[in-house]
Amino acid sequence: MTDLLSLTPDAARGALAAWLAARAEPGYRLAQILPRLWQRPVGSWEEATDLPAALRAQLGDAFPLTRLSCDAAQQSSDGTEKFLWKLADGEAVESVLIPEGKRRTLCISSQVGCALGCVFCATGRMGFRRNLSAGEIAGQVREAVRRDRAVKPTNVVFMGMGEPLLNWDAVDTALTILNHADGLGIGARHITVSTVGILPNLARLAQRPEQFRLAVSLHAPTAALRRELMPIEKKYSLPEVMRALGQFRRRVTLEYVLIGGKNDSLTQADELAQLARPVGALVNLLPLHPGGAPDLTPSDRPRMLAFARRLKRHGVEAVLRRSRGLDISAACGQLRVELEARRKVRAEEHARVE
Ligand code: SAH
Ligand code: SF4
Repeated sequence: MTDLLSLTPDAARGALAAWLAARAEPGYRLAQILPRLWQRPVGSWEEATDLPAALRAQLGDAFPLTRLSCDAAQQSSDGTEKFLWKLADGEAVESVLIPEGKRRTLCISSQVGCALGCVFCATGRMGFRRNLSAGEIAGQVREAVRRDRAVKPTNVVFMGMGEPLLNWDAVDTALTILNHADGLGIGARHITVSTVGILPNLARLAQRPEQFRLAVSLHAPTAALRRELMPIEKKYSLPEVMRALGQFRRRVTLEYVLIGGKNDSLTQADELAQLARPVGALVNLLPLHPGGAPDLTPSDRPRMLAFARRLKRHGVEAVLRRSRGLDISAACGQLRVELEARRKVRAEEHARVE
């Protein structure tokens, strides 16, 4: 059995062509079957009714399709929609669809949980469960398209659960699927990989010829503070990560979650500007969502505005992101953690009754 959805479209074409040839099927079958992977995706081969029934059954045996079933969907009052996908082994990951004018950005997960334990992050608190396959990563877009073809995502960001550059092989293939004309056909400049900066794989991403965008999670302007917030700092330090950005021929975004009294002073804005300006980076300022360590609080609005203004005064372009989907816990890892907490409470209630 081959998971065609975890192969690049070229590799899937090769596997299918060989399989069809071995069955002496006519040449045009390939052109009938291939688009059903990504362009006009079927839920199962049975849905490909333009194929003979016997062939559909054989395809089902040889190439079962990886599905993600929607375990929960929530729509926020601001239009943000959140999906909790159940995987074949019972694990679950999240995607968030964020409409913004003509743009529809789907925020996807690359791992179940995350090993890196950033203190402000709900996924980090959950720990690492497993890597997603390429089919499960790109499959989040596929399933969103299957739910509603009219709202195909125009942009994809790897800002859901997990650290994409710690699952490089699958992310590498998923990037090809997302971008390839025989895949989902999303322009490379509309696909953003967000990472804390896993150096060896950052270099691999930089070497890809397509113009994929890079966002680096900084969250602190000094190594000492970053180490407090993000344990990965011990392995890949801030100065090294900043140096590595030179490998990218395109503009990089620095992500910075504003945490009250931690990393939001004007002096820290000055320090951040000193990092961002030489590399011409854009700074994305994110309001802190709940779900991480309980003692962390978001910066208040005037403080966020002052921080953004200060960066701009240094000639650094900064965007203060609105908090989207707060009412549906639409930050990384939150829906899954929330559902598990509810289930746990229910289980505890049961235990008390018994
Ligand atoms: N692991 C990767 C990608 C997933 S996290 C990374 O860390 O970059 C995507 C973004 O969500 C990161 O910038 C992360 O810092 C941010 N994030 C995590 N927890 C958050 C929270 N509680 N509030 C706001 N943003 C958060
Ligand atoms: Fe992992 Fe990113 Fe969350 Fe850090 S912020 S724990 S790297 S998912």
